[in-house]
Amino acid sequence: MKPSAYIGRFAPSPTGPLHFGSLVCALASFLDARHHHGKWLVRIEDLDPPRELSGATTTILKQLESHGLWWDGDLLYQSQRSEAYRAALTQLQDDGLTYTCDCNRQRIAELGGLYDGHCRQREVSSESAIRLRLPDRDSDSEITFDDLIMGPYRQNLDSDVGDFVIKRRDGLISYQLAVTVDDYFQRVSHIIRGADLLDSTPRQLYLQRCLGFFSADTAPMQYAHVPLAINAEGQKLSKQNHAPAVISGSESKSLWQALKWLQQAPPSELQSDSVENILNWATANWSIANIPTKMAVAAPSYV
Ligand code: GLU
Ligand code: ZN
Repeated sequence: MKPSAYIGRFAPSPTGPLHFGSLVCALASFLDARHHHGKWLVRIEDLDPPRELSGATTTILKQLESHGLWWDGDLLYQSQRSEAYRAALTQLQDDGLTYTCDCNRQRIAELGGLYDGHCRQREVSSESAIRLRLPDRDSDSEITFDDLIMGPYRQNLDSDVGDFVIKRRDGLISYQLAVTVDDYFQRVSHIIRGADLLDSTPRQLYLQRCLGFFSADTAPMQYAHVPLAINAEGQKLSKQNHAPAVISGSESKSLWQALKWLQQAPPSELQSDSVENILNWATANWSIANIPTKMAVAAPSYV
């Protein structure tokens, strides 16, 4: 058998149970992996204890199982990966690509999301955030990639983001660094996730470059960003706006609704079929090209 080069993943943060929006992301990445005879991994992004909800990991895993979304291999927990993150951070520090920043919350807020490099040349205490220094040449901070759903995407890190945080002032490793290290560690080839992370992708591509993860002869990671499911008020479904968890006992219906939302045109009689049959049909008929290319799409009214 030819070894499978396709490795996909679903990387939930245990901040609450899966809702319709997270189910469509899990389903899309699962189906794309299965359709390509690839592996599908699950990684628990439990890196931010204050945001976590106790029991959420167990709930999410049970929800995945009851929807037939069985993963390959062992789960990876980010809470057990501090060693790897520390090594990556040290590498970036040794390469002179970082600096400490003690700008306070108010100052950062006033900058409106675009950091101005204020601390680049300052002596700052060690109890501070660590930022990644962007390249001096403007053309080097221009990042482009082709999203499998959203199409060509371009961002200039220098003018859109600025030197960004890789270790937070509370000591936690940032999402951007952890996700980059882990996707590489797990040899992930295809990242299919929510469109709220589209504008994080250039930061992750840049980190891959800084860490030397990809050279001219390695295939770049492929990205596909699934539109956000929004409620009637136009808000992203999330724990903060009380998006309901996918209901246990209606797995077939939820999967069917998710497929319809992803514009996979599931036949209506499939709605009352088993989870296995629905997933088999969806794997065989999967078309990523059918997924809407909008940033947000209304969730079905029952959620
Ligand atoms: N853990 C992130 C979240 O739940 C997703 C990370 C990713 O897919 O890159 O929003
Ligand atoms: Zn600063």
